[in-house]
Amino acid sequence: EEKDGAKLASLPSGSLPRLREPEWDDNLGYFIKKKLRVWCRRLNGLWESGLIQSTSGDKALILLSDGSVVTVPTGELLPANPDILEGVDDLIQLSYLNEPSVLHNLQHRYSQDIIYSKAGPVLIAVNPFKDVHIYENDFVTAYRQKLLDSPHVYAIADTAYNEMMTDEVNQSIIISGESGAGKTETAKITMQYLASLGGGTGGIESEVLQTSCILEAFGNAKTSRNDNSSRFGKLIEIQFSATGNIVGAKIQTFLLEKSRVVQLAQGERSYHIFYQLCTGVSSTLRDRLRLKRASDYNYLNQSGCMAINGVDDAQKFHILVEALTTLKICKEDQEHAFEMLAAVLWLGNISFLVIDTENHIEVVADEAVSNTASLLGCSTEDLMLTLSTSRIQAGKDKVAKGLTLQQAIDTRDALAKFIYASLFDWLVEEINRSPAMGKHQTGRSISILDIYGFESFQKNSFEQFCINYANERLQQHFNRHLFKLEQEEYELDGIDWTKVDFEDNQDCLDLFEKRPIGLISLLDEESNFPKASDLTFATKLKQHLNASACFKGERDGAFSVHHYAREVLYETGGFLEKNRDPLHSDTIQLLSSCTGRLPRLFASTWLNQSQKDASSSILLGMSAPQKQSVATKFKSQLFRLMQQLENTTPHFIRCIKPNSKQLPGTFEKGLVLEQLRCCGILEVVRISRYGYPTRMTHQEFTRRYGFLLPENNACQDPLSSSVAILQQFDILPEMYQVGYTKLYFRAGQIGALEDVRKQV
Ligand code: ATP
Ligand code: MG
Repeated sequence: EEKDGAKLASLPSGSLPRLREPEWDDNLGYFIKKKLRVWCRRLNGLWESGLIQSTSGDKALILLSDGSVVTVPTGELLPANPDILEGVDDLIQLSYLNEPSVLHNLQHRYSQDIIYSKAGPVLIAVNPFKDVHIYENDFVTAYRQKLLDSPHVYAIADTAYNEMMTDEVNQSIIISGESGAGKTETAKITMQYLASLGGGTGGIESEVLQTSCILEAFGNAKTSRNDNSSRFGKLIEIQFSATGNIVGAKIQTFLLEKSRVVQLAQGERSYHIFYQLCTGVSSTLRDRLRLKRASDYNYLNQSGCMAINGVDDAQKFHILVEALTTLKICKEDQEHAFEMLAAVLWLGNISFLVIDTENHIEVVADEAVSNTASLLGCSTEDLMLTLSTSRIQAGKDKVAKGLTLQQAIDTRDALAKFIYASLFDWLVEEINRSPAMGKHQTGRSISILDIYGFESFQKNSFEQFCINYANERLQQHFNRHLFKLEQEEYELDGIDWTKVDFEDNQDCLDLFEKRPIGLISLLDEESNFPKASDLTFATKLKQHLNASACFKGERDGAFSVHHYAREVLYETGGFLEKNRDPLHSDTIQLLSSCTGRLPRLFASTWLNQSQKDASSSILLGMSAPQKQSVATKFKSQLFRLMQQLENTTPHFIRCIKPNSKQLPGTFEKGLVLEQLRCCGILEVVRISRYGYPTRMTHQEFTRRYGFLLPENNACQDPLSSSVAILQQFDILPEMYQVGYTKLYFRAGQIGALEDVRKQV
């Protein structure tokens, strides 16, 4: 059996590969004769391994591993890999690259706690949901000294570090995957490795590591999918000196989920910091903040979930305060920040009394209002007025108009969300400005991107719309690097490389971005139109976008987009409001008049930004100056991010969630397969294997191996010398190609030459 396997592994691979290999049909007879292992798809859609017993017509008799024998249409069979290829490090080493084989390989490794694998240049990380003991110091040393070469985040970080140091090119490590897949943990592991490489005397690596704790307290929450789910995207740029020591770091964040501050799904929690503060705060500060227990606050107690298994919020609070102190955020600022958190919590307890048949309200004058007012530093009367009326311009004067119950609730919640989001931004800025984060410089850097992966739920709204748009952009970046650049390089260099089609998602990006007729433009247009509703928005999309192949108008109030990963149905309910993210000018005015330092700062930051938006909207030729919508702001943030990434050498890590219960040792094949599709792994495997992953210029090649040639060859030009070397060492012609400027090798070929070189 083993011998057969070896033979099979070296079978010529035939013509252009597909995931369903065409050569398979020719090999079926071989598999039958040799009684080799195959995958057969069962009625439940899952693949099971078995041995072909016999065939008749288009039916095959298969002996399954459990001993039963079944009849399966031959169309439902795929070749399995020989046993000697069981659990290979890199998926591209597999002889057969069909889906069940790829899945089986990952599962086989996972069952032995080997959570990392490669797919060509991409690292796959399958979340172990337990401690796998591969991050200790001796592992750091082993990867640094190249004593270990099995796939690992450390290996990726090490490569990035070396390339940064030798090529002096900035690097990026792009981590993606769905919620709970392990992105944030992977980002931390990367940072930890870089810190141990780039740690020196007086280094700031421990400060950089401590930022995670702060960002997680304020930006992570328990969701149904992940007990520690990041509700924002983040890019952390770690800067190095010429000698390779960490000298600075800078954090950028994207699209914090604000709605979580005021509204929670059943079983989920708001941001960790609220619970940490309520349980961990000292009694003196508790009195000063007029703080009660977490369960006393409406914003926290609405979801029936106050604690997380195995997490001690009070202890986390102490760790947080330590981290804030390490990052030189002074006690006074820390308390200001806690005041804002307490104010948000008290805001949620403010209630309203309906006073007439038109649902107008007045604010109930209780401790919630007075505590909020005193924490913000304004008078109770002013706060009550802001929450119950809106002042509108009538001629020269402003007149106050009473709010209805829903309007008052919206105004209150908008204020809470604004304070929290501003606090988050302020904190990130403080961290960036902190002397503990070093002096920022643009020399050598490694940026780590930890950003929400593609999402497709039963119900998809504006949040998924933005997240999936971001993923569409990132996917293009990924495609560009892995496929387009690769292929273009071959073609430019005159290499005959049978074109491999890859899905370009430009059409889908156009659907989002085109002006004036694209999803975002149309959304903005409707958002600015007073009479528009979520329904008219959906109709408008249908009217204008039906020609796009990526768009489909659905029943009322819905549309679907054909994303690179799959089709997603979006419901337009709430789109306009979330995109507008309205804030009354009265609210800003109230904050401006507060005595608290932060409320005033938040208000002035907002006013400055609005001014900038207004002047840029005039530049863009819009009729009336307006504040940027959420979608448009996100779009420009993404553009900036992509520009930054374009200037780096990227390294990709795809995190995979093996089950949806956050359990160790459980590998759900269907779930994993779906993720492999969504992140393009199956495509990568296919292309990498058949490309020529190793390449060198003729000069580099002759410089490195030229001495292996007899002396009289030395005067030849690099091209001729290269060819002479290749011939002398019997490198098979199908294993390399000679381009105008470079030599291209199949995987593993250079290894043979290196062996010779080392022996000399
Ligand atoms: P989200 O998009 O919701 O933020 P995420 O991809 O960032 O999700 P993480 O928070 O990094 O997911 O991981 C979820 C949990 O999985 C962690 O809290 C941890 O328990 C576990 N986990 C992830 N990676 C590892 C690892 N390498 N070793 C051990 N446990 C891990
Ligand atoms: Mg995360």
